This record gives sequence, structure tokens and C-alpha cells, in this order.
Amino acid sequence: MPEGSRGLLLAGVGGQGVILASMIVADALMRAGHDVKQSEVHGMAQRGGSVFSHIRWGERVDSPLVPLGSAEVLAAFEWAEAVRWVEYVRDGGAVVADIRTIVPPGACTDRRSWLRRYPGIDGELFDSRHLKTRLIDATATATDLGNVRAANSVILGTVAAFIDIDDVHWEAAIADLVPAGTEKINLAAFRAGRQVAEARVPDAAQDPDGFSGPHEIEIRHDWCKGCDICSRVCPEYCLAVDVDGKLTIVDPEACTGCRLCEILCPDFAIDIHAPRELAVVGTNTTNESSA
Ligand code: SF4
Ligand code: SF4
Repeated sequence: MPEGSRGLLLAGVGGQGVILASMIVADALMRAGHDVKQSEVHGMAQRGGSVFSHIRWGERVDSPLVPLGSAEVLAAFEWAEAVRWVEYVRDGGAVVADIRTIVPPGACTDRRSWLRRYPGIDGELFDSRHLKTRLIDATATATDLGNVRAANSVILGTVAAFIDIDDVHWEAAIADLVPAGTEKINLAAFRAGRQVAEARVPDAAQDPDGFSGPHEIEIRHDWCKGCDICSRVCPEYCLAVDVDGKLTIVDPEACTGCRLCEILCPDFAIDIHAPRELAVVGTNTTNESSA
């Protein structure tokens, strides 16, 4: 890379807000006075495919592409994407990785073994490269704050620790670029992400066989785009998308609680949980939250 220019990679899967996050980073860097170039690839995003963006900044930047082994920071919105892209980070650089796992649909034909084939969450993977590592549960943090879709802002908050620009530029970019009405939650998410100072590793991996006991399928219809991923991967044929593109539960009794549909939905539109009297979303008390 030209003297003085630096690089950042953002990687995730469709529906996680990688492109929006990339625009926010680029905007914040420009507000701080840098020349910035940005590039993105999101070909299979609608089907849960990989989405990534390269950003370079400095006094003068000619190309957006970050060469292998040169990125200052990798922001991975999903664990396998962190493992896939870590080679782009320079020795001594930083990796901010969400521990959320989103298994590609093609890898889910055998739900009892997918976890063995999925890379285990292990911060030591990066130790040999002397990388500064932050493993975060951005999804849980954003959910606690009130909107799971603000998870990308949590990640940006943690990334901000490794990019030397003032928070005022980050916050102005977030306030300008996030969807109208979500500025407050996204700024709160950014500040929560900013508090993450150390690597954190979860106590236990997810259970590939789901959880025991009764469970409910909750659909957030206002977030569902009818892409059909969930119904195609459900081993028990519990779900279907009708001719109008609306997802319905066709066989609730057959659901084993394996959570494949929840894990694979790129839009966080399904929640598999133990039965509860009040649904989490809105005031709907049935197991299908409507728009
Ligand atoms: S709930 Fe199913 S159909 Fe709706 S967006 Fe998620 S994966 Fe696609
Ligand atoms: S949790 Fe239930 S509805 Fe979802 S994929 Fe598994 S069996 Fe199907």
C-alpha cells in the first residue's frame, strides 16, 4: 500500500448491515479529513451469502483494495467470516469479531454434524499472529438495548478503538446514515461497543441438536422478506412461504427446536424459544407476530 495509507476489512453475511457499516466507516474517515476509497461485494447477500467491503484511507489513496496481510483492522460480523478473512490482517493488527454463527444453507443438510464442520470459536486462533482480538456478542448487546438490528453499530463501536479518529466523526456519520428513527438506538449501540476493552470467549458452544423441552416458533413478519431459506432448511417441514411471499407455520407440532431456521435467517425474523405468555415483539400474544 502507498506510504501512509491504511486498510480496514468488513465481512459478514447478507442481512447483517455490513454495507451500511462500511458506508459509516468511510463517511467518518472523510469527516476526519482523510482521502478514502471503498469497495464492496454482496452478490449472494439475499441468500445468506458472504458480504465484504474493503476500505483504505490516508493522505492519498489510489485503490480501495486491501492487500493480503496489510489490513489494520478486520471487522467480522459473523464468526466463520472472521476465520475466512483473518489472513488479510497485518501482524499486530486487530480483529473485532462477533461470535454469532450463521451457517451457510448448503452446509446444513445434516443438522447433527454442522457444528463439527463449523470453525470453533477460539480466540487463540489469532494468537500466533500477535493480533489484538475482541470477540463480542454484538447481537446480544443490541437485543438488550432494544433492537437486534443495531448489532452492526456495536461492532463499529469496538472497531473505533483501533482507528485514530475522534468519536464525534463516528457519531455524526451514524446519525446521518442509519435509517430515520433509529439514530438513538444506533448511537447507544456504538457507545456500548466502545466499552469493549478485552477479548471475550463464550463459555459454551451452541448445541447443534437444539434444546430440550417445549418451544415456540415466533415469526417477525415485518422483518421477513420471504426469501424461503428457513422453510427449505427445516428438517421437519414446519414452515412454508405462500404464493404471496408470506412465511407461515404449517406444522408447529413437528418442530424439534433445532433452531436451524433461526440461525440461518439473514434478517433475524425467526425466534425459537420456550413458550411464554407474552410474545417479545409488539403486543401480539400469538406465535406469529404480524407487520
Ligand atoms: S424468516 Fe425465513 S423467509 Fe423470512 S427472511 Fe428469514 S429466512 Fe427468509
Ligand atoms: S427450529 Fe423447528 S421450525 Fe426451525 S428448523 Fe428446526 S424444526 Fe424447523
